[in-house]
Amino acid sequence: MPLDTTTFHNVINGELTSTAYTRHSLNPATKKQNPNVPISREEDLNAAVDAAKTAFKTWSRTTYDERRKACLAYADSLEENKDALAALLTQEQGKPLDQSAVEVGMAIKWTRELPTIEIPENVLQDKDDVKIVQRYTPLGVCAAIVPWNFPVLLAIGKMIPAVYTGNAVIVKPSPFTPYCALKLAELAIPHFPPGVIQALSGGDDLGPMITEQPGIDKISFTGSTATGKRVMASASKTLKRVTLELGGNDAAIICDDVDIDKVIPNLAILSFLTSSQICMMIKRLYVHSKIYDEFLKKFVAFVSNFKTGPGTQEGIFIGPVQNAMQYEKAKNLFESIKLENLTAALGGTITDSEGYFIEPTIIDNPPENSRVVQEEPFAPILPVLKWHDEDDVVSRANASDTALAASVWSPDLERASGIASQLHGGSVWINSHFEVSPFAPFGGHKSSGIGVEWGLSGLLGYMNSQSVWTRKG
Ligand code: NAD
Repeated sequence: MPLDTTTFHNVINGELTSTAYTRHSLNPATKKQNPNVPISREEDLNAAVDAAKTAFKTWSRTTYDERRKACLAYADSLEENKDALAALLTQEQGKPLDQSAVEVGMAIKWTRELPTIEIPENVLQDKDDVKIVQRYTPLGVCAAIVPWNFPVLLAIGKMIPAVYTGNAVIVKPSPFTPYCALKLAELAIPHFPPGVIQALSGGDDLGPMITEQPGIDKISFTGSTATGKRVMASASKTLKRVTLELGGNDAAIICDDVDIDKVIPNLAILSFLTSSQICMMIKRLYVHSKIYDEFLKKFVAFVSNFKTGPGTQEGIFIGPVQNAMQYEKAKNLFESIKLENLTAALGGTITDSEGYFIEPTIIDNPPENSRVVQEEPFAPILPVLKWHDEDDVVSRANASDTALAASVWSPDLERASGIASQLHGGSVWINSHFEVSPFAPFGGHKSSGIGVEWGLSGLLGYMNSQSVWTRKG
């Protein structure tokens, strides 16, 4: 049966449930209302936590093999519904349909591949009189708090690690993008026992309600640095474990020996994908002064060919920004172009339209202290900056409080590695950016986060370490 993408429910204890009050978000391309979704109250959350605790008792005792099988069967259901999910993602998030299909495809891949990672038992010592083994046990009830920019992959990227390691999980999507996450939980119903995967939609009060709930053992949060601090403060009251994936202001350093024509398409896509609303997009592009003028000219020419418009239309690369709040924030940042006397090599203004559309904008060598360099825009505006001294560009790249990721671009791999090895960030790439894998831990340094998701280290974030001592004889 085709997936119904017109009615939306919470998923509690294996059932689709409704609430007395509902809300809706807007399609960012048209500002038309999307369907109604539940507004969860405290009793809904408490019911989900109770069901999760009950489910945990038996789910935590199943084998990795059993959980892997459940994840694989679930992945097949996601695959069967991938087109409907991609269309729904474009309707709620705004990103072009082909980018939605990529995100859904990644979510399916992550669902299949994360559970192939073996959780080890480490024999630390095995002597005549004593054996010490380090093993890992699940935490209990996890909450997955998800932002609006990558709502499918980031929900799955928390749900699967949680349940594969033996926990129960409650997914809380952003109020701006609740639709796909509710369907992800609905599609999980036939594959997992009731209470193992649940989802609650709500208003702005639901996140804080979750972090205060004493029955929840872990919060995996992805969102802004400001909210991350609130999550950690609230979680500290009951010593919940936290993983925080927060904001970034990624630098890319382009050396003078690059093949300009070859790197420009990659750099342009990796700066403007999803209207630059990705934590790990290139947000500061440092170009060597020897090639700066030619680079900027060709970069502007390439980006000016990106088509802006509704994500449902063929050939669109720049969809709308996701919501009114983000649109207003972008307008405020664009005002700094005039106020700070910056030069826009492309774009530079926002014209009101039917949706929250912003044409890509490139700022030509703004001062390091300008807002567009210092802030994470989360909108299609990119500063391109000149550099000529390696030590200087490294210190400018590292000057940010955030340190999510960074990249260096040069065919001279030794030179590039030398620069890369000095950069702050949870991910550093040479000749690429925003590459992710279910097997590679992903997280931020400094104010970009605490802990990692994915890879063995990410999975262990959903587990306690236990040292088991056996005295022999
Ligand atoms: P946000 O912090 O406003 O919201 C994220 C989620 O937290 C939403 O589900 C929201 O409802 C919930 N929330 C809000 N207040 C809360 C509270 N007090 N307690 C608990 N939950 C609360 O972030 P956003 O605007 O949705 O996302 C954009 C930000 O996320 C950007 O800064 C971006 O860089 C960052 N981000 C980081 C990563 C990463 O992996 N590091 C990935 C994607 C986005």
